[in-house]
Amino acid sequence: MDKILKKKEILRKCIACNRLKSRDQLIKITIKKTTGEIKVNPDSKFFGRSAYICKNDECVNNAFKKGKFFKILHIKQDDNIKEKIRAVLEK
Ligand SMILES: [Zn+2]
Repeated sequence: MDKILKKKEILRKCIACNRLKSRDQLIKITIKKTTGEIKVNPDSKFFGRSAYICKNDECVNNAFKKGKFFKILHIKQDDNIKEKIRAVLEK
C-alpha cells in the first residue's frame, strides 16, 4: 500500500499586502549579510536577510511606498532594486 506523503507547504508573507503565500507565488529578495549584495530570487546558497513580495504590480509598488522595502531590509534606498524586481514580473 502506498503511503501518500503530504508535503507541508512553507508559507511566506508578502511585505506589501501581508498575505501568506507559497514560495512560488512570491518574489524573494535577499541581501547578503557579508557583502550587502542584493539578489532577486537567489539560489539556495545565497544567505542573508530576505523579503518576499507577491508577483504582481500592485504589491511591488506598495512594497516600495514610503521606502517600506528598504526599511524592512535595513538598507539604503536604491531605485535599481525596484527595476530588478519589475524585470522579474515582466518575464
Ligand atoms: Zn502581496
